Amino acid sequence: MVGAAVGVMSACAPGTPRAAEPAAWGISYETPKRGSGAEAEFLRKRRVLEEVRSSLAEQYRLPGGVTMTAKSCKDAEAEYDPETGRIVVCYEFVGETRDLLRGADRSDLDERAEGALRETVYHEGAHALIDKWELPFVGREEDVADQLAAYQLIRQGAHGQRQLAAVADTYHLYAEDGDLEDIDFSDEHSPDAARAANYRCWLYGARPKTHERLVDGTVLTRDRSEGCEEEWDALHRGWEHLLKPHREGSGTP
Ligand SMILES: [Zn+2]
Repeated sequence: MVGAAVGVMSACAPGTPRAAEPAAWGISYETPKRGSGAEAEFLRKRRVLEEVRSSLAEQYRLPGGVTMTAKSCKDAEAEYDPETGRIVVCYEFVGETRDLLRGADRSDLDERAEGALRETVYHEGAHALIDKWELPFVGREEDVADQLAAYQLIRQGAHGQRQLAAVADTYHLYAEDGDLEDIDFSDEHSPDAARAANYRCWLYGARPKTHERLVDGTVLTRDRSEGCEEEWDALHRGWEHLLKPHREGSGTP
């Protein structure tokens, strides 16, 4: 979630043969180090990895060579490594997300944390799909991965949209937590405040009447909001086009 904590490690690896079964993206949970047991249990009970995988597998013929692992790490992070095809979600990252929301005294804490983690897994899944399918894109890959996460969650209806609103709120909290002078504008990720605004914009753009309250004049300004329907339309159209050849039931892989 937080700027540099979510990342893709390096350049693209060559594609590997695709596999149609959801099991193609194997999921494993490593034993948590002491102190991370509750985070491991939360991730497992909420079935975040399983639900993202099955949602993607219902829609697309997923490429092989990708695995998902939850484990204890040195840092609170999530990443996709193209060298190994492995998506890693660290228990420490789960803990950091929950602590942030708890510290801000948010209601529906678990639901919000689950939403934030789902966005993270979709984001890392996007890196995997871009890598394995060699999807073309323009702009920064980190922004493109955020777009795919939004595209997936928004199309899931009220539940996914509520979770994406919680994700935007989480980025807003990260932004509030940090100092302006500490922002690394050369980072491959957009600053947290920009990611919060982007997610709000796309959500509002997709359903302006439902999400009008997201245009609050600070996280998402009125000025930006005026173009959000067009932003969402372009984003939606772009991803529909890019993913069409990989859709379940489409003629060519
Ligand atoms: Zn990333």
